[in-house]
Amino acid sequence: MKRIIACVAGLMALVTAPSAAQESPRPERYVLVRCGRLLDVPGKPPREGATLVVRNERVERVVDGLRGPDLSREREGGAEVREVDLREAFVMPGLIDCHVHLTMEFTSDIAMRNVTDSASDKAMRGLVYAKRTVEAGFTTVRDLGGEAEAVFALRDAIARGDAVGPRIIAAGKAVSITGGHADPTNGYRADVFAAPGPEEGVADGADACMKAVRAQIKRGADVIKITATGGVLSRSGAGLAQHFTDEELRAIVQAAHAMGRRVAAHAHGTDGINAALRAGVDSIEHATFTDDESLRLFKERGAWMVPTLLASATVTENAKKPGYYIDVVARKALEAGPARMSNFTRAIGAGVRVAFGTDSGVSPHGQNAREFGLMAQAGMSPTDCLVAATIHAATLCGVQDQIGTLEPGKQADMIAVRGDPLTDVTVLERVTFVMRGGEVVRMEPRPR
Ligand SMILES: [Zn+2]
Repeated sequence: MKRIIACVAGLMALVTAPSAAQESPRPERYVLVRCGRLLDVPGKPPREGATLVVRNERVERVVDGLRGPDLSREREGGAEVREVDLREAFVMPGLIDCHVHLTMEFTSDIAMRNVTDSASDKAMRGLVYAKRTVEAGFTTVRDLGGEAEAVFALRDAIARGDAVGPRIIAAGKAVSITGGHADPTNGYRADVFAAPGPEEGVADGADACMKAVRAQIKRGADVIKITATGGVLSRSGAGLAQHFTDEELRAIVQAAHAMGRRVAAHAHGTDGINAALRAGVDSIEHATFTDDESLRLFKERGAWMVPTLLASATVTENAKKPGYYIDVVARKALEAGPARMSNFTRAIGAGVRVAFGTDSGVSPHGQNAREFGLMAQAGMSPTDCLVAATIHAATLCGVQDQIGTLEPGKQADMIAVRGDPLTDVTVLERVTFVMRGGEVVRMEPRPR
């Protein structure tokens, strides 16, 4: 586990390196952020009236009160010093979504777009979705599957400062069995696409599964995503039960961990959830049909649950619109959608660790914060919701030493809202200010 963290941390250091380091150095930049209330460490009480001192891309210190510190010496030394007035706002760390698909957004014509869109088209769409996502307050996302080439290019362009978006931790192409949830050729005539193999993330048998994992890492994957069971939106009648065998699951986890990558397993059916947990995956995405054994395994293995309640709500709603999904998809949506809320309530009651994730792309990008209202409806306290989307999400992604709180040395990733998310989490659907790595991404006029 240590090696995994070291590796991901190294990657984040690369991601946050200034883009034009070889040219004439930028002057030191300070931003004094005046915060009416500041939740610098979610889980602890907020501070009333505090100033965040941001130096370049990081938090330098937090000072109580709305005056000071005196930076005249720094100014004389050539530093840029600016102030941001958030005295009427609630400020907290930037939000983290552990499950998005930035290179797609589901619409009812998706079957045709799969044929017409190139990887470059998907990257261009991703640019738009990435901007929407960061402007909604999500300063880091984990992209769990899509067009590998497109998402890696998008991640790297944002990291260089060439495009506006969240930090991206990317899986590339999800690994699936033939005919499984992430086999992109499901439902098409056999001569439309060539049958994909391990290099394209479709694999059968332990050896091929290892090859599929290694191929994604070779191309640039930061994390491995697998579809441990069938899925709702795939054009396939292959159910929602276990897909990879126990042996294949063990091979996947071993191959990924050996190369310092974590494994995120999409899983709906109980047998697939439990088999993936036994094999040692790091997170279960969706976790729709859990039983007592699943909850016991989550805790015994220290695995994370990423609930994606917004995806269930979205597909349940869309499945009722005639013709929106093909029949086989609508049937699965109506089966999986309603179960997830009650099973999530049971999981938090049992003390399962939860990291925030929405499956955005299934729902429109930029609406990620709607997940908070659903988590609260299912019985999670506002404080726990905020911790899930900051400290817990950062920990699942292995970057908790970089992001998740606004402590000295961490990335200056923050948002501001009007109102109090500790009493009403839905205020997070309307952020008024976003800073990512010390750069202001969104600033609305100060409320009168
Ligand atoms: Zn997903």
